[in-house]
Amino acid sequence: MKMRKGLVIILPVLLLGVLILLKHEERTPDSTQNQPVVQISLADLGTIPDWRELDRFQNTLSRTTFLDRLQTIYTKYDSWKKWITIHSDHALILTHDTHYRLNFSSQELPVLPSKSFSKLHIALDPGHIGGDFAEMEERHLLYGDHPPIQEGSMTLATAKILQKLLTKEGARVSLIREDESPVTTASPSDFNNARLFYRTAEIRARAKLVNETLKPDLIICLHYNASGSPVPTPGQHYHALINGAYHESELAHEDERFQMLHRLLSRYSEIEVPVAAAISHQFTEEVGLPPFQYQPDHPYSVNIGDNEALWARNLLANRLYQCPVVFLEPYVMNSTEFIARYKEDPEAIYHEYANAVITGLKSYFKTNEFLFTHRRSRLPRL
Ligand SMILES: [Zn+2]
Repeated sequence: MKMRKGLVIILPVLLLGVLILLKHEERTPDSTQNQPVVQISLADLGTIPDWRELDRFQNTLSRTTFLDRLQTIYTKYDSWKKWITIHSDHALILTHDTHYRLNFSSQELPVLPSKSFSKLHIALDPGHIGGDFAEMEERHLLYGDHPPIQEGSMTLATAKILQKLLTKEGARVSLIREDESPVTTASPSDFNNARLFYRTAEIRARAKLVNETLKPDLIICLHYNASGSPVPTPGQHYHALINGAYHESELAHEDERFQMLHRLLSRYSEIEVPVAAAISHQFTEEVGLPPFQYQPDHPYSVNIGDNEALWARNLLANRLYQCPVVFLEPYVMNSTEFIARYKEDPEAIYHEYANAVITGLKSYFKTNEFLFTHRRSRLPRL
């Protein structure tokens, strides 16, 4: 009887235990489903950043300067607040698994050592590839009986003239590419979409060359602009770009978020803005190209200061090159004026372009010291 009584008591307890265990087993997958899913969102061919590379910028920028540059250069709307929270003495930046804490400085950095023009290492980036790749790049125009207008070939010709002029002034000059072939060792057949070859893999290969081998003080990206018109129309213009205006869809990529902060904290804009302004003055006032205006509601551009010709945009090249980058977009290759000049004497256009850049650079270096925010050896590599 005693044993039976015991079983009567023990059995329901065991059953209850089994039920609880089963219930728990059932609940376990449910509870993981409710936990936030860790998703790493990256740009095309991007890699996860090492946030510790920002450690060297701890306590270097004040809250006021950080916020001012974030809101006037690097972003256009408030969507950055999804990933960056500003506190009184630090910012918290959301990463895929945690937050990165960036401490603000209680005072601004002092003026840093300067470098003269003659000791400067400038890299010239002839935009696109040109030659056999021009058609694939959609940078090949042909209107009647003249050699094709190929942006990648023209930027290379311009860069070689500018290289000679800068070298004569004593600067050390590197060309990011020397001929009409890609820097990347990849080929178009490696990708489903050719754009990933000539836009993404190519620029990433150039960035590796710049950041790991060339390590210049300044890069000038040379481009020729074009309008969207299918037929030649009158009208040319000019604008210069620095890195900035990160869109919500770009900040959602962890690598782009990191690169934006890396550029902001490196204080590259302190050099990019005045250098771009000096070159822009030459193109708008001396060459006579009117400033190009993005529409005010254009979500991927920010006008810089009160300079009509100077804009921030987040392009792969001006984001990845780890030094100040000025990106030039003069002329309109499919305008009636440009086509007429090109038929007549393309070399004259390349010389005009190169002269505008060197005159602008010389005027900047005459009145400004080239300020280094950090010693190059301390710059992190992507
Ligand atoms: Zn271009």
